[in-house]
Amino acid sequence: MKEKIIIIGAGISGLSLAIFLKKAGIDCAVYENYPYKRIEGSSFRINKSGVHVIKELGIEEHIKMSSHSADRMRLLTTDNTEIASINLMQDSTFSRRSIYMQRSDLVEILMRQAKSSGVEVHYNKKLTRFSEDASSVTAYFEDGQQEMGSLLVGADGLHSTVRNQMFPDHLLRYAKSWALYGIASFQDIDSKHVQNLMNGDELFYFSENANFLFSKSHPTDELNLSWQASGYQERKIPKEKFELRNLDELKSDLVKRYGEHGALSEIIKKSFNIIPKQIYCVDPIPSWSKGRAVVIGDSAHTINPNTGYGSSVALEDAMYLAKMLQKHHYTDALYYLEADRKDRINAIQNSLEIFDVSKGFDFSNGFDIGLFSGSTIDPNYKIHWEN
Ligand SMILES: Cc1cc2nc3c(=O)[nH]c(=O)nc-3n(C[C@H](O)[C@H](O)[C@H](O)COP(=O)(O)OP(=O)(O)OC[C@H]3O[C@@H](n4cnc5c(N)ncnc54)[C@H](O)[C@@H]3O)c2cc1C
Repeated sequence: MKEKIIIIGAGISGLSLAIFLKKAGIDCAVYENYPYKRIEGSSFRINKSGVHVIKELGIEEHIKMSSHSADRMRLLTTDNTEIASINLMQDSTFSRRSIYMQRSDLVEILMRQAKSSGVEVHYNKKLTRFSEDASSVTAYFEDGQQEMGSLLVGADGLHSTVRNQMFPDHLLRYAKSWALYGIASFQDIDSKHVQNLMNGDELFYFSENANFLFSKSHPTDELNLSWQASGYQERKIPKEKFELRNLDELKSDLVKRYGEHGALSEIIKKSFNIIPKQIYCVDPIPSWSKGRAVVIGDSAHTINPNTGYGSSVALEDAMYLAKMLQKHHYTDALYYLEADRKDRINAIQNSLEIFDVSKGFDFSNGFDIGLFSGSTIDPNYKIHWEN
């Protein structure tokens, strides 16, 4: 049969994989559950390994115009005492810097690039299951359509249908942490104090059992002040006390808990939207592939958002899988994907055991360097497309 790769999920890893496969001359199509719709409010850091992938995808200029790259991060307590100002030692070359941007901007840029590379992206296509025989795999969608291909890639995120069929015993588990995504506009912030405080820097507020990261996330958009917070919570919070709270209730809960005054409370009060999420993860699955199905990104290895690495790793996976498929038979490509990438994923996942920012810090006893040591993440990790 004709080689065709079926990609499930038009998120970060799915769209990136499709662009790289087209570059490699491999036929593919993407199937996405949702209709195409911009969802405002969530934003994230992309580390320099991910920004390097962005350059290789050919979208660097678009990303430059839709992201912010800070030079410094200021660490503060919730009463606005500055603990430290960290020089992020950013390179002068954009593709070697870490950036901050809105997820919706990244997905939109990837989608446009995929379409202009000739990739078919089908929306409103929810995968329900797949089957395979000796020479092909068939994807079955909720609307009754079937699609046949040579390989099925589950780029379908945390709640992956593909992973669930491959390993039904690996269920989602609460990761003892909550998170909030917020978005505001610099224009709405009256206080000169806040404007001066940020002035292009990232602000990282630590409190006992929680942290807040504020960053500019777009150079020109009106909604350009993004934040994310996370905190440690042993037992899942009941929905009515978290996900089902409305915006005003969430704001007043946060201000009550973390103080009425200063930059943190001003940004929270002026936020246009706040998305509450409780964090889930999946214990490591026995293998990232099984027969003609493989998973990448969050569906293969949930990366706790407290590491700040999820999107970078999704981009890296996509690039590496396409590179392996360009050079090898699919069985070898799937073998190398896992064999070559597993140590990196383990190092990132293990970093939380050493430095779990969701637990916050109590700086009242002073600063201890031991908090930050022991990670085995390679800060210079880079995948090369050409050999
Ligand atoms: C609170 C929070 C904060 C975060 N902060 C950061 C951060 O600072 N830095 C960072 O790098 N990462 C962060 N992340 C993680 C990051 O968002 C993910 O790791 C990244 O989006 C994973 O990309 P992906 O392509 O694997 O999955 P996704 O981007 O989730 O894409 C999966 C796609 O598959 C689709 N899909 C699902 N099921 C089906 C189906 N059955 N049929 C068809 N389509 C389907 C979905 O609709 C979606 O479009 C954070 C996540 C959370 C929750």
